[in-house]
Amino acid sequence: MSRMGIFGGTFDPIHQGHMIIAEQVAEALNLACVIFVPGGVPPHKTVSSVKASPADRLEMVQAAVRGNDKFDVDRVEVDAGRPMHSVETVPLIKERRGEPGDEWFFVTGADEVSNLLSWKDPDRLLEEAAMVAATRPGYDISDLKHLEEVLDNFDRIIPVQCTRVDISATGIRRMLAKGESVRYLVPDGVYETIHDRRLYGARKDGEQARQEERLSWRQKA
Ligand code: ATP
Repeated sequence: MSRMGIFGGTFDPIHQGHMIIAEQVAEALNLACVIFVPGGVPPHKTVSSVKASPADRLEMVQAAVRGNDKFDVDRVEVDAGRPMHSVETVPLIKERRGEPGDEWFFVTGADEVSNLLSWKDPDRLLEEAAMVAATRPGYDISDLKHLEEVLDNFDRIIPVQCTRVDISATGIRRMLAKGESVRYLVPDGVYETIHDRRLYGARKDGEQARQEERLSWRQKA
């Protein structure tokens, strides 16, 4: 019997804000594993607002979790190739990855929890997995009365105080488009993938470009 976490997101790209809440929620709730589930085409975002392909976002998530035994990735939503709601994804993951008697937690940032009424079947989702509301800068979760009044399973929402990290995927994409460095805002492997594949308008990593320049200079000499 284990306590298991599911962390869904667009991860466009995955960044240190995600890694920190996954680590701190796992510690606070004593989770044996956090399964990251990158969304194929998220139902609440338009296709054109998602910039990197599902395959690239999956690869970045795989690079990000490498080296952490407690973190894992599931590609069910990427393989589905269609929008999937969490209420559909969570039972599938439980079936694929769980054992009878496991306890399940769905990890989200506080902004998502405040919007829970716009999700498909929130009460059923809360039955499938308790929902963790990880603090996020700029979002106040002290007042969730609008949810308390409507949801039968409101007590299955668990706030967890995490270190507030003011990083967003939107901010990272903007910085890359302006040619600014996002090193250390994303895990190292993600940084390399972004530059190798020139995602989000990224140019080649500065060091890599310098090495190649030195090499071609030596070859010419
Ligand atoms: P975007 O800026 O493109 O909307 P994002 O940074 O919010 O992206 P998502 O992949 O949409 O990233 O987020 C997945 C989950 O992680 C969401 O539940 C979101 O609230 C949470 N999250 C993202 N960034 C942070 C952060 N800095 N602190 C706490 N939670 C976060």
